[in-house]
Amino acid sequence: MPNPLYDVAVIGCGPTGAILAHLLARQGLTVLVLDRESGACTLPRAVHFDGEVMRALQWIGVAEKILPLTTTHPGMRFVDATGDTLLDWPRPQDTGPQGWRASYRFHQPDLDAILRDTLGALDTVTLKTRCEAFLFEEQPDHVALRYEDMAIGRVRHAKARYVVGADGARSTVRRFIDTPMEDLGFHERWLVVDVELTRDKPDLGRHTVQFCTPERPATYSPGPGLRRRWEITVLPGEDSTVMASPDRVWALLAPWLKPGEARLERTAQPAALDARWRSVRGRGQRHRHPVEPGRGRGAMTRRLKVRGLGRSPVRR
Ligand SMILES: Cc1cc2nc3c(=O)[nH]c(=O)nc-3n(C[C@H](O)[C@H](O)[C@H](O)COP(=O)(O)OP(=O)(O)OC[C@H]3O[C@@H](n4cnc5c(N)ncnc54)[C@H](O)[C@@H]3O)c2cc1C
Repeated sequence: MPNPLYDVAVIGCGPTGAILAHLLARQGLTVLVLDRESGACTLPRAVHFDGEVMRALQWIGVAEKILPLTTTHPGMRFVDATGDTLLDWPRPQDTGPQGWRASYRFHQPDLDAILRDTLGALDTVTLKTRCEAFLFEEQPDHVALRYEDMAIGRVRHAKARYVVGADGARSTVRRFIDTPMEDLGFHERWLVVDVELTRDKPDLGRHTVQFCTPERPATYSPGPGLRRRWEITVLPGEDSTVMASPDRVWALLAPWLKPGEARLERTAQPAALDARWRSVRGRGQRHRHPVEPGRGRGAMTRRLKVRGLGRSPVRR
């Protein structure tokens, strides 16, 4: 059987690629989605999205599935080294202009799994996992691409009118189309520590807290269920590997937690970079993703929506 010509091939089935595939399918387009992993990433990553992102999730039919897995928080407090409040920033608790609340806390693997699972129900989407794309050739009216089907170690061919790279921070597509990464100049090192409490610890509170301790600023974010995150400054001269070792992490968490009160789920130092990208066929405009704390994922989802791929109905 000859290879079908897909309208769009989406490389990567993280949240960006999966939401894009949903939006394209809703426009009646045929979509091939390739991802080199067999399932969604299970480690904590993004922890926050806003009401506009929820509206996009509503548009693709998954808002009611993710909602029970989210939590909301009363706001953010900035406290000084002695614990005195410098600034109290309450967040609206009512439904806002997007038809949803202003802010949701979530566990990214929950959303990624929902997005992947629901793609399977869309007739015009073909999702191929354990398939790594590695070559893109522009033809006059389509892109010929090659990928390795890692399950059987065979190279496969596919054709699509457009290819979109949604293949994450180390994007193969970005390298292929030779579009640069832009350094926004944020060079501070922060250690992101995700934990799951062994039991609830109400004294930690439901506010996000910025600890404005000059020696070592830190952020605390409560997540859904027993998930909690700390983001802690790594000082100049400190070795990142040593800082991420469990002994050091527990020492850093000592003001809030004792070992045994939680299980360390992940320690990481995410990069703060800004990517520009365009479609392989060169028609798409460049996209810029400002990466602010808690805003990376939301910015990408929003970008997909405002590109005119769908107008979300406001929830009544
Ligand atoms: C520790 C950490 C903390 C974070 N915290 C936050 C936060 O608090 N708030 C926030 O908004 N964001 C946060 N982020 C960022 C957020 O996770 C990302 O913005 C988001 O996952 C990006 O989604 P994506 O779909 O673009 O890419 P990804 O989620 O990286 O998905 C890319 C997909 O492409 C696949 N792929 C890659 N190359 C190929 C290939 N050649 N062929 C086929 N498939 C391929 C990968 O397997 C992957 O599934 C954090 C990230 C990390 C690591």
